[in-house]
Amino acid sequence: ANLLARIDRLDGDLNSFITVTPEQALAAADAADAARARGEAGPLTGVPLALKDIFCTTGVKTSAGSKMLDNFVAPYDATVVEKLKAAGTVSLGKTNMDEFAMGSSNENSFYGAVKNPWDGAAVPGGSSGGSAAAVAAGLVPAAMGTDTGGSIRQPAAFCGITGLKPTYGRVSRYGIIAYASSLDQAGPMARTAADCAHLLGAIAGHDLRDSTSVARGVPDYTAELDAPLAGLKIGLPTEYFGDGLDPEVESAVREAIRVYESLGATVREVSLPHTHYAIPAYYVIAPAEASSNLARYDGVRFGHRCEAPTDLTDLYLRSRAEGFGEEVQRRILMGTHTLSEGFFDAYYKKAQQVRRLIRQDFLDAFDEVDVLMGPASPTPAFDLGAKKDPVSMYLQDIYTIAINLAGIPGISVPAGFAGGRPVGLQILGTHFAEARLLNVAHQFQ
Ligand code: GLN
Repeated sequence: ANLLARIDRLDGDLNSFITVTPEQALAAADAADAARARGEAGPLTGVPLALKDIFCTTGVKTSAGSKMLDNFVAPYDATVVEKLKAAGTVSLGKTNMDEFAMGSSNENSFYGAVKNPWDGAAVPGGSSGGSAAAVAAGLVPAAMGTDTGGSIRQPAAFCGITGLKPTYGRVSRYGIIAYASSLDQAGPMARTAADCAHLLGAIAGHDLRDSTSVARGVPDYTAELDAPLAGLKIGLPTEYFGDGLDPEVESAVREAIRVYESLGATVREVSLPHTHYAIPAYYVIAPAEASSNLARYDGVRFGHRCEAPTDLTDLYLRSRAEGFGEEVQRRILMGTHTLSEGFFDAYYKKAQQVRRLIRQDFLDAFDEVDVLMGPASPTPAFDLGAKKDPVSMYLQDIYTIAINLAGIPGISVPAGFAGGRPVGLQILGTHFAEARLLNVAHQFQ
């Protein structure tokens, strides 16, 4: 109830929530109290949180930040939501996001931009900008995000919180509105790595309803948090400290790495030679998959429908033209272009080959070192309205999107400030190394 009042007081200005659900929250809190009274409480019983508005929730609007789904109430819960409910958490509502998770600043939302709680002139990052801002502003202790090309780690960095993108397949995508299915992954955003460890333990695991979720046991992610780091081998990718990196971001990150050295870790430089191809490869693959996933919004079965269609083609054309925002339309055009006959081999197939090389870069690096470290983003949060040109926005993703192409996990942890705005240290590990990443992040906090 205290947090609901706080949301009421602060979120008009911040705009981090699309929907607040006080009745459901109070009912869930009562159920949590009852469980506690019966002696059945777990570590997450009664913990308030928020869900990015991309997770389907029974009886509550799920908009994906789009006018297209402004009228959509899902008839079922996403697996992540089901698991969080089973763990006794209390959702306070659904957070703002870039439309269909396309963006790096949360400015592409149908529901308006979100402010960065540290500085109202700055963006919170995206696409999980509402989740990051809500946690940073103390409206909720934790929130769920999704990360297709950095959308958990970059807003976590911009808002000075901790955000974990798990290995592709670690968390079920069932009931998460699809953007780019071979890249999408859900994960926790919270103050600390320890909080993320509890949340990941609750949401991870195999799910028969998502054929890409991996049948592999879920460890206790909190068990190794305190393991000492003496002997840890850290690699610094040369390509993550090059041109375009803000010098204050660089010095904050290098400062953090010195802390690890003082804890007994050794540091060496490694190379990820195909890094420069990550942005082009991603911006071929992700829009291609998006164009296919977004074909289902046709004005017929659910979502926005235009007024008085004259025939079926008119219904499709106007419903989609009215329902989708500019960036989403741009991605659909790019995607249908690269998938069309005559262009497929030159773009989509080539991008998939590059993806393989990018993945191999990481696997080679993890033969030499335990984790990689670098900045989560080349700059701290930029000003609202500062990046009008889509390509300059895409370049924001330079340190985050290769991770999704490779399918490996990554975490961003707060590591100081640049120009008065938070900086994120990104820590990367090999597939299913989440426990290690959480341990390394925790030792810094
Ligand atoms: N900026 C990336 C994009 O626009 C990130 C998206 C994401 O991770 N959902 O595609």
